[in-house]
Amino acid sequence: MQLKTPIRSELAVVCVAAFFLAALNVAFWRQFVGALAPLDAHEWLFVIVTAVTFFALLSLFFSVFAFPYLFKPAIALFLLLTSAAVYFINEYGVVIDSEMIRNIMHTNTGEAYDLLTGKLVLYVVGLGLLPALVLWLLPIAYRPFWQDLWFKTKVTALVLPLISLIILPLTGTAMSFFRENRILVRVMTPLNYLSAMITYGRRSMGEGAIAAKPYGEDAHKAAVWTGREKKTLTVLVIGETARAQNFSLNGYGRETNPLLSRIPGLINFTQVHSCGTATAQSVPCMFSGRGRAGYRSGAGQEGLLHILQRAGISVLWRENQGGCAGVCKGVPTENVGGGNRKLFELGESLDENLLTGLAEKIDGMQGDAVIVLHMMGSHGPAYYKRYPEAFERFRPACKDSQFSRCEGSEIVNSYDNTLVYTDYVLAKLIELLALQDRRGLPTAMIYVSDHGESLGENNVYLHGLPYAFAPDVQKHVPMVMWFSPKLQAGLHVNTGCLEHRRHEPVSHDNFFHSVLGLLGVQTTVYDARLDIFASCRGASPMLIDD
Ligand SMILES: [Zn+2]
Repeated sequence: MQLKTPIRSELAVVCVAAFFLAALNVAFWRQFVGALAPLDAHEWLFVIVTAVTFFALLSLFFSVFAFPYLFKPAIALFLLLTSAAVYFINEYGVVIDSEMIRNIMHTNTGEAYDLLTGKLVLYVVGLGLLPALVLWLLPIAYRPFWQDLWFKTKVTALVLPLISLIILPLTGTAMSFFRENRILVRVMTPLNYLSAMITYGRRSMGEGAIAAKPYGEDAHKAAVWTGREKKTLTVLVIGETARAQNFSLNGYGRETNPLLSRIPGLINFTQVHSCGTATAQSVPCMFSGRGRAGYRSGAGQEGLLHILQRAGISVLWRENQGGCAGVCKGVPTENVGGGNRKLFELGESLDENLLTGLAEKIDGMQGDAVIVLHMMGSHGPAYYKRYPEAFERFRPACKDSQFSRCEGSEIVNSYDNTLVYTDYVLAKLIELLALQDRRGLPTAMIYVSDHGESLGENNVYLHGLPYAFAPDVQKHVPMVMWFSPKLQAGLHVNTGCLEHRRHEPVSHDNFFHSVLGLLGVQTTVYDARLDIFASCRGASPMLIDD
């Protein structure tokens, strides 16, 4: 079915550009026109000028690849990548920036498997594979190399000034509009993922250069520890995708915390905000000690856990997610099942695995210890895979990671079920820690989620929107703490005082300094102003070795 007469290469380029402009940028145009509305003559003109400019730039861009043996494979690759990107933009309302690329790079096979839906295949086949096939069958006539290069130079030299001329009268509108709606650029394919990949690549190279830089080298245990022989155990639980709004402890209408709400002495902080809107941002940031403002990208850099180790506290990272985003580098790590596709499918990567064998680990511990439990929590879109059937308290639950096949209420049901299960895992952990306290080991638990989640509000799902644009539900996270009686006494934790402060606004920035403060680790990188416990210490009697 091959055509007899070949088409000229510039016509092929223009057709490819038109396809990208129209078929692969539906979300951009919908949001663009939506943000401009109502459309009067001036707005319509702006739409047309934007379309012409976008089309011209796409044509110039694709013409760079318009050489024999290069054009077809290059465009095929662009079509496949873009069709997949378009699926995520349309289906989950995500935008594509360097953080999203980082998330993709940090995604394990199990999580990736959840995202593979029939609809994604349809997108890739319909918008990627088929157009690529059509292009492949099309005979294209190219000019001799040097002649072609000269032609392209002339066209570029003509088109660029022409576009500038068209844009000129609308510069003010365009600048103010795109400044106000910067997010639109991240919906524009293929510009969004190309620039994101470049930014990501540049940042990763920068990261390599500063990797493993020592931090808090002067760390040591403060006086509170001296002369004390009894060891302590602090469990830090890093939650996943739990949003504060859906915790009944924070006033949510459904009982998503049936067990935690009955635990005496549990302290629930109600106004906690995350450092990022995705794991790959939040987790390294909260362990970095640099705070949201100071943290850039520090995967592989030393952080909280290295400082604790330096102060003589033994650290163990228990992983149920397949990755610690670099913060557990050089720290004993144990994978309890996360990240394994088979276990995901069998539902065996449940968070209760984090507690399996934990008591034995504690018994074998030497000296003071911190154990980090990295949960799978409420990781979407396959919420229904995060809890056992017995925890399906809210029905009907969405049992599909392709959200368009579920009602909005079903998606919320399955999400809320993940929180009921998280509630159970945390309550069971506290039970275990309370038992340890009765056996003579002072214990503490601090749970905080890495970021929140959108559940379809304004058609946005999942998380990972750039911080400045992300809705509060992606940033407002739950944080609960529990301290055993012996630990409260031994480390001077005044829970009454904390209970009093639990509605104060705090953030992931406080995490690093609070853990150091709680455990009495002194270092110049510790900032008492960010230590939640700093003002709630000292009221209890010094009860160290009873
Ligand atoms: Zn996360």
